[in-house]
Amino acid sequence: MAEQNGTIGYSENGELAVPDRPTIPFIEGDGIGPDIWKAAKMVLEAAVKTAYGDSRTLQWKEVLAGEKAFNKAGSWLPEEALEAIRTYRVAIKGPLTTPVGKGFRSVNVRLRQALDLYACVRPVTYIHGVPSPMSRPDEVDMVVFRENTEDVYMGLEWEAGSPMAGKLIDLVRQEEGTRIRSDSGIGLKPISKTGTRRLVRKAIQYALDHGRKGVTIVHKGNIMKYTEGAFRKWGYELAQEEFSDRIITEDELFKKHDGRLPEDRLLLKDRIADAMFQQILLRPADYEVLAMPNLNGDYMSDALAAMVGGLGMAPGANIGDSVAVFEATHGTAPKYAGLDKVNPGSLILSGAMMLDYLGWSEAAEALRSSIVRTIGEKTVTYDLARQMEGATEVKCSEFAEAMIRLM
Ligand code: NAP
Repeated sequence: MAEQNGTIGYSENGELAVPDRPTIPFIEGDGIGPDIWKAAKMVLEAAVKTAYGDSRTLQWKEVLAGEKAFNKAGSWLPEEALEAIRTYRVAIKGPLTTPVGKGFRSVNVRLRQALDLYACVRPVTYIHGVPSPMSRPDEVDMVVFRENTEDVYMGLEWEAGSPMAGKLIDLVRQEEGTRIRSDSGIGLKPISKTGTRRLVRKAIQYALDHGRKGVTIVHKGNIMKYTEGAFRKWGYELAQEEFSDRIITEDELFKKHDGRLPEDRLLLKDRIADAMFQQILLRPADYEVLAMPNLNGDYMSDALAAMVGGLGMAPGANIGDSVAVFEATHGTAPKYAGLDKVNPGSLILSGAMMLDYLGWSEAAEALRSSIVRTIGEKTVTYDLARQMEGATEVKCSEFAEAMIRLM
């Protein structure tokens, strides 16, 4: 149950129980993080006030991670940060630097793995007026569910010439008779049945809950049969076992239903990743929810974001079974740090996803309709202004203020 102190809990039937004044841990982020966080916080608070007056509010709790944590506490991802997010269950974050250097693994990847945030959810929807390279960007309305904990992102790789790379090269030669060049770096790509099933389950459940008509499993199984190919196979198996009365496969659609989707069914299909990159450009309207392994999902999410106006506007969430972290999908853009210049849209829209997740859909709607209106009036930050005719270029904070005025 939700506790008096603002901690989000779960009801007996497993649903999120959100108090009227939930405590939400936030990580401000590095580089442009403080700029976009300040703007997003203002807009989120205004959206909640617009929707509920004073009867609901968000109580923020700062959690240190990234450069700020390193400078204060000597750790890029202190255990207290993870503990606070585990306790309060829903958090929001700005981008974090990954220092380039030997052996340093991304703070973001470590955060996702430590909290087992296995689904990276990236909705990609076009906002009218945003400059786009597509001729019909309004046809793009997809949600990517990218597996977030496995695949090459597990960081299991060894430098060329290292003892471990040498051992693996020898093992493959002895057991498989395959020669790998001795000066090769070696990486492992684990994809499990467990990891695949829970990701595909989340994607299908999302599609059913949101009235979407199709889920596509995207994979490179023609080449990597026991990892990407298995992702496809396990995805279909899970769908048959748990959703057989709600889904229909593409095969069945044409064999039994003459290509027409029955009202009460969801179409489950699969596409090979390279073909899918063509499909999102040529036939975006045919795709709604995509379930993908980690690396291909990473590429696809950014390609889709570019189609609707770039990373400055793309929201995202990392969701597990009991914890969710909402985040800007772009990086720290260090050259713009502290200039109050960049587009806060990605973090603001991630905040709207967070409000939806809390069940505060009226506030999410207030926020989304105001961003549509603000961009409709051509009041935009530099990134959009440089591509828009007749735009008024505003600062990061001024964009947030304009949004609040139009709420
Ligand atoms: P980046 O920070 O995303 O910036 C690349 C470019 O994207 C910027 O120079 C800018 O383009 C544009 N951009 C990014 N955010 C924007 C915004 N809010 N508004 C407008 N334009 C925006 O990518 P990066 O330079 O490759 O990465 C920098 C650092 O961020 C690295 O340490 C990386 O590891 C980290 N990173 C963190 C996350 C995360 O925390 N989730 C994700 C990705 C990268 P213009 O120069 O054209 O204006």
